[in-house]
Amino acid sequence: MRIDIVTIFPEFFDVLDLSLLGKARQGGLIELGVHNLRDHTHDRHHSVDDTPYGGGAGMVMKPEPWGDALDAILGADPESTDDGPIVIFPSPAGDQFTQRMARELSLEQHLVFGCGRYEGIDQRVVDHYAQRGRVRLVSLGDYVLNGGEVAVMAMIEAIGRLIPGVVGNPESLVEESHEDGLLEYPSYTKPASWRGLDVPPVLRSGNHGAISTWRHQQQIERTERVRPDLLPPAIS
Ligand code: SAM
Repeated sequence: MRIDIVTIFPEFFDVLDLSLLGKARQGGLIELGVHNLRDHTHDRHHSVDDTPYGGGAGMVMKPEPWGDALDAILGADPESTDDGPIVIFPSPAGDQFTQRMARELSLEQHLVFGCGRYEGIDQRVVDHYAQRGRVRLVSLGDYVLNGGEVAVMAMIEAIGRLIPGVVGNPESLVEESHEDGLLEYPSYTKPASWRGLDVPPVLRSGNHGAISTWRHQQQIERTERVRPDLLPPAIS
């Protein structure tokens, strides 16, 4: 998968050299381009923001640097395409990012992320690229961050680990929270007893059927307790 990111803080993404995603990049599973929006400004101060039309607090990101930066990645061809890269703008006003969305996006060949700052990006940038191809506004959750970088990092981590080969054992992905609509069961490792707390005996029984039943029961109980909204009507 090819991932391009446009940001005014390219250093933010240095951490993508580390851990599983760093290895995936070294192994050629993920190709990353991080682009500084300020390289697409033409004034002495490399300004990327201006005051909002209609007044109000805060600044808005100007459309011209965004147009130059995204054209440099996508090509300047105004023809619209339905199978080209998806341009994703993180926004608290977007669709909620979920495991399902991460899985869908992990099947794409090319993702382009545009990290907003200040009060956000001039709406015409979103509208223009939506006329030319696939654009999504995606929210990490119902809260406001200072910029899109943290949201993009979270999305790339969730999407990247679903690309075949990135996580060593693909089975570990299947049993995780949100994959089957339930939260994951609790996990334990050695020692069997720690600070007076014992590992549930069933997990040491060697009885795989009983372990599987216990784990499923734990998933349902935990989901009922923490996230009852996730349960289908038949279970809740
Ligand atoms: N004025 C905007 C609003 O009320 O919707 C918030 C702007 S926020 C301070 C600056 C940038 O942070 C946004 O353009 C977006 O890129 C990012 N951002 C903030 N909260 C986010 C969230 N919950 N999910 C995704 N991106 C977010």
